[in-house]
Amino acid sequence: MLLDTLQRPLGNLRLSVTDRCNLRCQYCMPEADYVWLPRQDILHFEEIDRIVDAFVALGVERVRLTGGEPLLRRDLPILVERLARKTGIRDLAMTTNGVLLAPVAADLARAGLHRITVSLDTLHRDRFVRLARFDELARVRAGIDRAAAIFPGLKIDTVVIRGVNDDEIVTMLEFARERGAEVRFIEYMDVGGATHWSLDQVVSRGEILDRLSAHFGPIVRVDEGSTAPADRFCLADGTVFGVIASTTAPFCRTCDRSRLTADGMYYLCLYATRGLDLRAPLRSGADTAALADIVARAWQARDDRGAEARLALRERAPLISLNSLKRDPHLEMHTRGG
Ligand code: SAM
Ligand code: SF4
Ligand code: SF4
Repeated sequence: MLLDTLQRPLGNLRLSVTDRCNLRCQYCMPEADYVWLPRQDILHFEEIDRIVDAFVALGVERVRLTGGEPLLRRDLPILVERLARKTGIRDLAMTTNGVLLAPVAADLARAGLHRITVSLDTLHRDRFVRLARFDELARVRAGIDRAAAIFPGLKIDTVVIRGVNDDEIVTMLEFARERGAEVRFIEYMDVGGATHWSLDQVVSRGEILDRLSAHFGPIVRVDEGSTAPADRFCLADGTVFGVIASTTAPFCRTCDRSRLTADGMYYLCLYATRGLDLRAPLRSGADTAALADIVARAWQARDDRGAEARLALRERAPLISLNSLKRDPHLEMHTRGG
């Protein structure tokens, strides 16, 4: 097993397949203009396949497709099919905003995708438009309904922001429960791209649990020895939900995930400001063993604890300035996939 300097195994790869998106969520892409990755730099499916082989050779068993919006990547089921064939991958998942999901959900399942998470922050149409800039709530809901009928264990991720959607915690849980899905409430993070972030808009895990127990009664913690970022909880009726407390109670100590951007830059942490270029060696002919060697050396030197380091700061403001984001789009959350 490949361990970093804090004895954390490399277990999980988040694979961004595009930096483009068809929404403009206020906590991720609030600006009017963006600098996109050059098209010629975007990895082809066979290149992604080769890089993933290197990660699988190092013990990665869980791969999550993300973006940008992964469903904007043309022919995504073909990539899914290639990845699903790899016997080393036990868990092949995708995080999507759900807009384009309904018509392709069955194709994705047939191609071998195991699990889907859909991001949804509000059930109010006007609020959705304010939050994501496009009038797409109906298509997201259709995507959720379709995916819930096809995929087991559908998850719905909700970023909770004070004064924006924190009055919907109870209704989001009920919405997920009615569909046999599990909602996970995510604390608002000060990641690259969240240029409007402020600490007073963060609704903490404690506050989320207080509001839920005020409505639903006692909540118990579901204990599990996994490295998943969500703490899971259970209502008296057996409904399970999660809270991802990345801002107030980060889980860096057990973090086994790293990220590959659509143009082949490798990041050891969501908050890392520098990545490792895997596209250059790939395009100059490095084979699986050589790529695995580059990744292994990077992982063995890894000491990142980005969210914990942020928590230790006395003064907190958005992580990366707008000017820096424009100079290097790799610093954006929508480029490295969240
Ligand atoms: N476009 C897809 C989607 O929205 O599901 C996948 C990429 S998106 C960057 C991945 C996840 O990051 C989403 O669930 C989104 O809500 C989350 N995210 C983005 N910015 C965030 C922020 N500032 N704080 C917390 N979560 C954030
Ligand atoms: Fe929203 Fe995901 Fe697009 Fe970011 S990448 S703007 S979170 S849909
Ligand atoms: Fe892992 Fe970095 Fe997130 Fe901490 S901040 S959980 S080390 S990705």
